[in-house]
Amino acid sequence: MKVIRNIKKIKTILSKARSEGRTIGIVPTMGALHQGHLSLIRRARHDNDLVVVSIFVNPVQFGPKEDFKKYPRDLKKDALACRKEGVDIIFYPPVKEMYPSGFRTYVEVEGLSTVLCGASRPGHFKGVATVVAKLFNIILPSRAYFGQKDAQQAIIIKKMSSDLNMPVEIKILPIVREKDGLAMSSRNVYLNKEERANAVILSQALAKAKKMFHSGKNSREVILAVSGMIKEKKGAKIDYICAVDPQGLGPVKNVKNSILLLLAVKFGKTRLIDNIIIHGKKN
Ligand code: AMP
Repeated sequence: MKVIRNIKKIKTILSKARSEGRTIGIVPTMGALHQGHLSLIRRARHDNDLVVVSIFVNPVQFGPKEDFKKYPRDLKKDALACRKEGVDIIFYPPVKEMYPSGFRTYVEVEGLSTVLCGASRPGHFKGVATVVAKLFNIILPSRAYFGQKDAQQAIIIKKMSSDLNMPVEIKILPIVREKDGLAMSSRNVYLNKEERANAVILSQALAKAKKMFHSGKNSREVILAVSGMIKEKKGAKIDYICAVDPQGLGPVKNVKNSILLLLAVKFGKTRLIDNIIIHGKKN
């Protein structure tokens, strides 16, 4: 396994691999890898001849008051995990390599990037779309792997790659959870003991929502019940709870085909997100 920090170098290696007809899978990450990331890496390993994991804490997707500086970083541990999973290359560029001075081109997926998490984190999805577009252009992967955990991000990236005719297949994989249901996240390490215990309410509330939708309740009733459950937990501060159409993120009232229920809740200083897709017929 190679750790490569230089764009020119990784392009040369991958261009040779492509000329030999090898397929390339990329798993873009910000590091601090957990089982959620590893599930993407395993799938990429299964589907492709070559697997590239990018580890890049992308400054452009963090707001000025967000946790860019303190975001967990541990390349040694991540490299060990990647080696174990049979990753071929870790792409680990310095910020200067991705954003040299004078950089001024950004990708904006209009409409989708300013609602939900985009409303509370202005500029976040512009940063995400830009860095993913850059990674696609550098790596030229056959397939790219993302988690349903970041549901809005997944929708935005699919839209960006289809709108801009990017020749890459986007794969979205299910949310990996802790035993008690909490969605795995690199940011879970910020939670203290009490916050960690309280955060379980998120997955419990989503499970309750699924039951309610299936018993014929509408979005308003479901969201009211879900927010009631969450508000009972000390220190929980709801950013949003929304029921939307899983493709366009428009609001929906009832489950016909499927509904995406998303939430963002702060426990102390830590903002957690989770979601569930609920299908019309029981599954
Ligand atoms: P991050 O390092 O947080 O930017 O995440 C990198 C990729 O891993 C994104 O596509 C995430 O959606 C995905 N991911 C993060 N947490 C999970 C999880 N619990 N289950 C599945 N995928 C995840």
